[in-house]
Amino acid sequence: MIDLKGKEFGRLKVIKQVKSNNRHKKWLCQCKCGNKTIVQESNLISNHTKSCGCYNIERAIETNTTHGMSDTRFYQCWRDMLDRTSRKKNYAYELYGGRGIEVCDRWKTFENFMEDMYESYKKHSNKYGEKDTTLDRKDNNGDYKPDNCRWATYKEQALNKRTNKKYLINGKKLTKKEIAEKYNLTYSAINHRIQRGWDKKDWIKPMREQKLNKEDVIKIRNLIHNSNFTHEEIAEKYNISVGYVSSIKSKRVWKHI
Ligand SMILES: [Zn+2]
Repeated sequence: MIDLKGKEFGRLKVIKQVKSNNRHKKWLCQCKCGNKTIVQESNLISNHTKSCGCYNIERAIETNTTHGMSDTRFYQCWRDMLDRTSRKKNYAYELYGGRGIEVCDRWKTFENFMEDMYESYKKHSNKYGEKDTTLDRKDNNGDYKPDNCRWATYKEQALNKRTNKKYLINGKKLTKKEIAEKYNLTYSAINHRIQRGWDKKDWIKPMREQKLNKEDVIKIRNLIHNSNFTHEEIAEKYNISVGYVSSIKSKRVWKHI
């Protein structure tokens, strides 16, 4: 048996071994960028995994400089988006990556982002000026992806964040966030239900948590015990209720894992 505790692999320093559901040993590691991550032992020893993922993102940024756009504000918008969602030391990380907001895979490549967003960027900046053209998410709790993003002025962004439409549910006027809390649903669940045009009476139906598989439950337990994520954030990430996260933690459910 090898003890990797304290050993370093690239940017990772091994903290401790964590439970694994299969024959592969897994270790919790601290990355130099500030993130913690769980890595399979064989991937550490073979030098396959050398960071929490931040290295690959940095490399993507470096190799994405052949388009002649690197000095533009548009390019800066793309970089900033990746940075605040992935690098823990970014000043705004808590509001983005720290809340589980991610960049879709397609947009991890600059050319794709350009293909999807450059036309609209030019239109917006012609009208409002480049400095007042910011990347805005329609749903402030949603990811950076084509159907959730648009360009907006700073003023519009601020308004978008403040607008909290209320819905009448069982005689009470509640925002989506309040509905989610009151009825033990995730924000994204309530959002999807409204967007898909569900009947109002069905908005508050309990969530179906049996979709989870063993792998998910192991990941969730790891997040509960080895990360700074709150139960709310974990629930959001896995589209389950906060109560269910507690049940997983206390082994009221998934006892055998
Ligand atoms: Zn890292």
